[in-house]
Amino acid sequence: MSRAEARAGSASRNFDVVVIGAGQAGLAIGYFLARQGRRFLIIDAASSVGSAWRGRWDSLRLFTPRRYDSLPGLAFPGDSDGYPTRDEAVAYLELYAKTFDLPIELNSVVRKLAAENGKYFLEVDGERITADQVVVATGPFQTPNVPTIAGDLAPGVFQAHSTDYRRPDDVPKGRILVVGGGNTGFQIAKELSKTHEVQLAIGSRQTPLPQRILGRDLFWWLKKAGLLRTRVDSRIGRRAQHRDTLIGSSPRELKRRYGVELKPRLVGMDERTARFADGTESEVGGVIWATGYRAPIIGGSTFQFSTPTGAFATSAGLRRFRTSTFSASRGSTRVARRYSAG
Ligand SMILES: Cc1cc2nc3c(=O)[nH]c(=O)nc-3n(C[C@H](O)[C@H](O)[C@H](O)COP(=O)(O)OP(=O)(O)OC[C@H]3O[C@@H](n4cnc5c(N)ncnc54)[C@H](O)[C@@H]3O)c2cc1C
Repeated sequence: MSRAEARAGSASRNFDVVVIGAGQAGLAIGYFLARQGRRFLIIDAASSVGSAWRGRWDSLRLFTPRRYDSLPGLAFPGDSDGYPTRDEAVAYLELYAKTFDLPIELNSVVRKLAAENGKYFLEVDGERITADQVVVATGPFQTPNVPTIAGDLAPGVFQAHSTDYRRPDDVPKGRILVVGGGNTGFQIAKELSKTHEVQLAIGSRQTPLPQRILGRDLFWWLKKAGLLRTRVDSRIGRRAQHRDTLIGSSPRELKRRYGVELKPRLVGMDERTARFADGTESEVGGVIWATGYRAPIIGGSTFQFSTPTGAFATSAGLRRFRTSTFSASRGSTRVARRYSAG
């Protein structure tokens, strides 16, 4: 539904709850709000639900098997032990929104969120919407982080952030430097190694974890050990937030099996010459920045936020919405006013 259609005939709208973001977190919250009979609205800037997944590369497979990718009330279709593709993730989120007939307004950018006299005001493309409670489900992966040295590459040399990478055919021939030793950097380096000479610059090493152990998926073991239900504000939860892990990849495998040359941190760029922390240099034909996302001010969004106290409740208030690994670990974690699922 477009905003114009939704607004036709209504002056100022008021809701019990407004959810900002129609990704997996926002949709799952919508499911619970519908069950409670709340008057609510889910607002998203994109033209379709699950937009974060649509913006990822063609060959992406989730590292979480389908059995852990279901949102509440609807099983993720297919082999529960298998790993869905990007397109399956998008299709599932679309199906989810349709199955529960969630009230979603797309193409609607929240520009401002403010609290006044115990209510919230949202500025959405010129319209002012009021709500008793607001859930910020805008996710952590909205604003690509590209280091400033990207500007030192010669004009015309191919460079793209991982969010703009889709497939090897789009990458010009020649030596490609992938920058960033996280899951994204490793996966793109592996894919490109079939068609290109590839170097991977690893700034800080992440702990490699096998995707499968003794025939079972890693997440099966994590669940068995109770780690999937760990609260983010617990001791283990707090530690885990600052530790990234490489799932199903390792530097050794990348080098031996895929022939990718490993380099340390990239420290400088001069036209086509990349300089690394160990003093070595290399001429590159193109760069892919797998350098993550900028730390969000509020859950990844770009809108302004103000309250008299400036305070946000944290994800502890969302705990009862935690339904699967898919939505819990790296998803939207903040809620305006502690929201209780009742
Ligand atoms: C390359 C990659 C691979 C991944 N693989 C996996 C995996 O295998 N398994 C797994 O569990 N997780 C994976 N993740 C993490 C997963 O994608 C995130 O946890 C998830 O997308 C977060 O969901 P979310 O609903 O919180 O936010 P998102 O899905 O990012 O949704 C946020 C929504 O908010 C909207 N929005 C933002 N700002 C505004 C605004 N101002 N106004 C209106 N709308 C706004 C956006 O348009 C967006 O639709 C991966 C992430 C990346 C980057």
